[in-house]
Amino acid sequence: MANIGIYIELKDKYFKKSNREIISLATSGSNTTTAIIFSNDISDYKEDLNGVDKIIQVKGDELKFHPDNYANTLAAIISESEFDFMLGAFSFQGKDIFPRLSGKLDNSALINDCTNVDFDNNLVTKPVYSGKLLQEKKISSRIKLITLRPNVFPVEDRDSKNTEISEYNLITDNQRIKIIEVKKSESKKIDLMEAEIIVSGGRGIKSKENFSVLEELAQLLNAGVGASRAAVDSEFATYDMQVGQTGKVVNPKLYIACGISGAIQHFVGMKTSKIIVAINKDSEAPIFKKADYGIVGDLFKIVPLLKTELEKAI
Ligand code: FAD
Repeated sequence: MANIGIYIELKDKYFKKSNREIISLATSGSNTTTAIIFSNDISDYKEDLNGVDKIIQVKGDELKFHPDNYANTLAAIISESEFDFMLGAFSFQGKDIFPRLSGKLDNSALINDCTNVDFDNNLVTKPVYSGKLLQEKKISSRIKLITLRPNVFPVEDRDSKNTEISEYNLITDNQRIKIIEVKKSESKKIDLMEAEIIVSGGRGIKSKENFSVLEELAQLLNAGVGASRAAVDSEFATYDMQVGQTGKVVNPKLYIACGISGAIQHFVGMKTSKIIVAINKDSEAPIFKKADYGIVGDLFKIVPLLKTELEKAI
């Protein structure tokens, strides 16, 4: 039975799906689980936090994400709580905080981007070499810091229990970083790491304006819009949309690749999608060897047709 801490990541007060996945994983056995959430008001998240034994609510005047404040506070909580495992998402925040924790905590080891954890045997699984191999690691350190790949673990329904809630004050001293400005993307795009459906475009889209064809389909499906690196390099799409080895690793239920050839560097970023649909005018395109469904044809004819049929069906 492991004593597990879970870092709850909020994005502008939005409770990310990855938190529910991690809670489901941690509470599936007979572990003791503590969720640590940085918020002055957790009333909106009570249901999301169902299933954990304890909640530590971190309060403060400066709760906006700051890597030093968050890492210093979490390190103090982890030491006091004597967690065996500390879990978080392999997200931008997770990638920022967890290496800092590893530096601050004695007898700790950090393993990033895991796709399975065996809490009883201190084992984790993580994809290596762009997902060609799965590596199993046994961790012998006292504290195991683990970030988990989003969209891998199922979200289970969890009953509410008499959860113990305690408060903790945010630590704001010892800052080494000064945040001068945060530039946020103005678009209201669906986060690809959270999206259940992604419609992606490649060089075959031919222009920035033509991406609107995919955006319309995505809007209908409540999907995120992704892109290949060729589309990003050609400035048809922005880097936050890039899927692949040097972009995002996504794991939606449905991935629709339009005008994408299926290069290995793109494939490693979306190959765990449950269903892959490819639309390409070249019947020899490598993407068809990897897709569950393939449509050979001009995407500018197929995508609007698909949209029309979906509009009838939805
Ligand atoms: P192309 O290979 O040019 O394919 C375009 C496709 O569109 C073709 O198959 C064509 O038949 C089809 N097409 C054209 N017009 C139409 C139409 N009207 N209708 C239907 N189909 C049409 N790539 C990534 O995507 N992500 C990464 O993270 C990434 N990282 C990389 C890292 C490294 C170190 C390297 C070396 C490369 C990386 N790449 C990455 C680039 C990768 O190798 C490919 O060059 C890239 O994925 C190709 O993108 P594409 O499929 O959009 O373009």
